[in-house]
Amino acid sequence: MPQSKNMSPIVLTIAGTDSSGGAGIQADLKTFAAHGCYGASVVAALTAQNTTGVQDVLPVPAAFVQKQMDSVFDDLEVKAIKTGMLFDASITKGVVESLKTRFTDKGVAQPPLICDPVCVSTSGHTLLQEHALEEMTSGLFPLATLITPNKSEAELLLKYSGTTMEITSLEDMLTSAEKLLSLGSKAVLVKGGHLESTMDDVTRIWEAHPEIRAIKQGLFDDNMEILLVGHPKYRTGPLVVDVLFSQGGEKVVLTRPKINSSSTHGTGCTLSSAIASELARGASLTDAVECATAYTHRGILAAEAIGSMLTLHLTTI
Ligand code: PLP
Repeated sequence: MPQSKNMSPIVLTIAGTDSSGGAGIQADLKTFAAHGCYGASVVAALTAQNTTGVQDVLPVPAAFVQKQMDSVFDDLEVKAIKTGMLFDASITKGVVESLKTRFTDKGVAQPPLICDPVCVSTSGHTLLQEHALEEMTSGLFPLATLITPNKSEAELLLKYSGTTMEITSLEDMLTSAEKLLSLGSKAVLVKGGHLESTMDDVTRIWEAHPEIRAIKQGLFDDNMEILLVGHPKYRTGPLVVDVLFSQGGEKVVLTRPKINSSSTHGTGCTLSSAIASELARGASLTDAVECATAYTHRGILAAEAIGSMLTLHLTTI
């Protein structure tokens, strides 16, 4: 399968659909396109979904998920893979087996895999059944370049692996990142979008942990105060902090102003797809995460009102 040098890098999403187009495979494909990548998609589950929530889920039989993976990998030179909603244990196991058979077992290098451990929608619908956690943690995580849990996903994964903790502070995020890394992925990004931090919190972390690299994103002045430039969505004070730890020992915190917005549907899907796209284009993991978090931040700022309940996140910028 020769790929010309001028071709867009191919990124594959293995995930669930969102009929209203804001999350899942639809968000993934928009994100790949916005990054100049060609998107292929393996549907693991269908959702009947709109801006009021998820009305129903129809899982695709695992054998058919595997058939789709075969069709893609037999023909396309995939540069990066992203997994999202895998819904149940048999689908998750099928994905793991297909990846192992095609790559690990043959001694062929697997493309980088970003695993977004999608568990529950914001509206409260189950997107990963609990019995799938074993396959996810022991099967998929060891194949993953990066896992990208949010606060509640990190807490669920930690509880499943024997640590009950509530993540309420930056210190908790560092502890959770360390513990999640021991589940076998090459790196972990604990996303802090559901928490609020202050510059004091961040400064305390930087002083206590000089080994942690700080990436400051957004509008700051020389004293690290957030600039208010008159944007109605910016408030003083709250920051979002994401924590990136890798097996190689790299420790990074990424800090940006928190946007006062409920237009966050699909942000997790968008972020993991943006990271996969950046990796497919040859970026290092840290650069990919930095560009992808900034992209998602801009996406929230550019979101438009769609549907009756929530505003959906637009990814076409
Ligand atoms: N639907 C699908 C198919 C998803 O993959 C996801 C999240 O990854 C969601 C819904 C969740 O959307 P929300 O951002 O509203 O939690």
